[in-house]
Amino acid sequence: MSYRDLYLQDVGKILKLVDSDTPKGKVFGVPFDATSSYRTGSKLAPQAIRSAFNNIEIYSRLFDVDLEKEYIEDLGDLSTLYDAKSTSAQVSRLWKELLENEIPICMLGGEHSISYGSISAVPNDVGIIIFDAHLDLRDELGGSDFTHATFYRRLLDKLDRKRFIHLGSRAACEQEWRYAEDEHLNIIEMGNYKIDLIDRNLIFKEYEKFYVSVDMDVFDPAYAPGVANPEPDGISPKDFFNFLKNLSGKKIIGFDIVESCPPYDNGNTCVLAAKLMLELFSYCFSLK
Ligand code: MN
Ligand code: MN
Repeated sequence: MSYRDLYLQDVGKILKLVDSDTPKGKVFGVPFDATSSYRTGSKLAPQAIRSAFNNIEIYSRLFDVDLEKEYIEDLGDLSTLYDAKSTSAQVSRLWKELLENEIPICMLGGEHSISYGSISAVPNDVGIIIFDAHLDLRDELGGSDFTHATFYRRLLDKLDRKRFIHLGSRAACEQEWRYAEDEHLNIIEMGNYKIDLIDRNLIFKEYEKFYVSVDMDVFDPAYAPGVANPEPDGISPKDFFNFLKNLSGKKIIGFDIVESCPPYDNGNTCVLAAKLMLELFSYCFSLK
């Protein structure tokens, strides 16, 4: 029995424009937002991002890749459970199975706790890039140690901190900043975000393969107002696309785009999320 029979629900598909049965990439949604602490509704994002993707131009000028000519298979949405830990365990099982195909995978959230599942499934020789306004390093939130505000802390409980780089942070409680300093975490705060950060950071010399997690609130709310926890003074879409352009041949084995919140969106956030999916897949397909 495959993952598909176990727990994926069919939903509206990413536009299939090409006549091919061999996908070059795969996408699935995780409509889960049970631990969101402020504005709920990110569980509606996978469908909203699909809809945006199906209504924007999908030729990548940036990487000269035409997604109208590539087959990206939409696996549908994962059936989620009531609590974050079990949902993450399902996410992890699915990622383990999908990564065997060695084609890029995109997961659409949903809240950030689901990235605990995907990142746990990634092999040890893969570096992890997290874009997020928040550190998500709390030890607990509201009596729970497994939420969208603690997922990075839980990952560091078991994974080597040297595998991670965290970009665009500007909001966390004092305890999180102290933890980050005490543990010497590789964190590029918003105030130090530079266009040449890839040249400056050792992780990009030490790893050839990466997983990318994008919490949409890393973007300035002017660009992405529809997120669960908006935070002023963020990166621009151009900052993100410059980062991708400068990754210079590093392989991205998979990525997630989380925390978009359609009930608070004017449409721009989900279009930006769709554009990220377009450029991340195009980056992957542009590598020879
Ligand atoms: Mn986050
Ligand atoms: Mn965040």
